[in-house]
Amino acid sequence: MSLRLYNTLTRQVEPFAPLAPPRVTLYTCGPTVYNYAHIGNFRTFLFEDLLRRWLEASGFDVFHIMNLTDVDDRTIATAAKAGVPLTQHTEPFVRAFFEDRDFLRIRPAHVYPRATQYVGSMVELVSGLLERGLAYRGEDGVYFAIGKFPSYGRLSRVEQRELKSGARVASDEYAKEDARDFALWKFADATDEQAGAAWDAPFGRGRPGWHLECSAMALSEIRQFGVRTLDIHAGGVDLIFPHHENEIAQSEGVSGQPFARYWLHGEFLLVQGTKMSKRFGNILTVRDLKEEGVDPAAFRMLVASTHYRQRLNYTDDALAAAAEGVRRLGEFRERLVGAVGQSGAQPVTASAHPPGRPSADSPTVAELTEAFAAAMDDDVNSPQAVAALFTFVRAANRELDAGRLAGAGVAQALQALDWTMQVLDLLPSQRGLDSDLAGWVEGRIAERAAARRQRDFARADAIRDELLGRGVELEDTPGGTRWRLR
Ligand SMILES: [Zn+2]
Repeated sequence: MSLRLYNTLTRQVEPFAPLAPPRVTLYTCGPTVYNYAHIGNFRTFLFEDLLRRWLEASGFDVFHIMNLTDVDDRTIATAAKAGVPLTQHTEPFVRAFFEDRDFLRIRPAHVYPRATQYVGSMVELVSGLLERGLAYRGEDGVYFAIGKFPSYGRLSRVEQRELKSGARVASDEYAKEDARDFALWKFADATDEQAGAAWDAPFGRGRPGWHLECSAMALSEIRQFGVRTLDIHAGGVDLIFPHHENEIAQSEGVSGQPFARYWLHGEFLLVQGTKMSKRFGNILTVRDLKEEGVDPAAFRMLVASTHYRQRLNYTDDALAAAAEGVRRLGEFRERLVGAVGQSGAQPVTASAHPPGRPSADSPTVAELTEAFAAAMDDDVNSPQAVAALFTFVRAANRELDAGRLAGAGVAQALQALDWTMQVLDLLPSQRGLDSDLAGWVEGRIAERAAARRQRDFARADAIRDELLGRGVELEDTPGGTRWRLR
């Protein structure tokens, strides 16, 4: 079997065939750097990381583009509120994003175009749309005329009768019920000028609309390959409308060619069953995970355990289960390494693996590589891949116990495990006692002690489980509660 992907454009799982194999151009909408990205954003980025890693493991030569939205309604509004120029406001969040990415072991994209550095391409795109009669000047900016683009709505399936062509929407974000002519370019007002977010253009000084930015950056970045069509465009489901619909209209309106062959969308992440929002005060960032001592491998495991097209519920229990899975994997790998050492077989390092499936003589190992590949080929079915991995751990442990897995077989088992880890990357981090973690643990222990004094044992137990989820074990002694990392 070869790779099949669910394409939002056709609402079908289709065989994946890039335009010019082995190259795959992959564009993923990046963060808006007005704040820290939350773990819901990172769920999408982790799904994209998994997709990219599997493409690479399958022998494709991926060119991954992720933009940084450093000018739009939100960045300007927050910079103005803080009373600083735009770049001064966004720069720390760009740095934070890269730190969070590295913490979660996400492979860096090949390029991170920043919107403010591609304004020339954006101006060019707007000029092209004006020339073709697909755009027009309004009183506050240049708008895309959706009525002039017959296939508008094809991706999001907005019905023609719902399109309010001629009516306008100026803001970057709006709902499906508001399918109107949208702003490509917004004429500069005093706030834009103050923030340093205004550029000259033949059609009037101003700044790009958010949707325009991605079209211009994507087309600019793939120009080097002589194409105007991306192989894959990915993002969160919330971007299907209007963002991706508008990207298609802008890009195809000028290029006359399909903008992307495959559109992939990752579902939301919920926190304890509810959508993250400022209103509920339940927005979690990667910084929060770090402070709480969450192993990035555990978060990766949690994300991989739900299919990307299904909603993922982030709970303490789910995280604890993921951390336990990661611990078992680490233990199992250590056991294999030990067994390889005893057998005198040559260990193979992960980096030495060529792309493609490692060889396997043992049926247990062959079963893993086959089941793993089949799962990942089936629209990146990572929960099934994780299940195959644990079936393998159980079977291999039994064989090791019985002495049936030995010699070259052990080396192959290790190689196969490392091959899957090149894709999933779920081995536990080597953790020391950093002071942030220690401080947080002490705080939780104090809260647990308070709960016990109030005879609120449910709460006390919940805190113990929460700590366990972060790899911290408690021991109650007459002298107080002691803790250790497992
Ligand atoms: Zn985008």
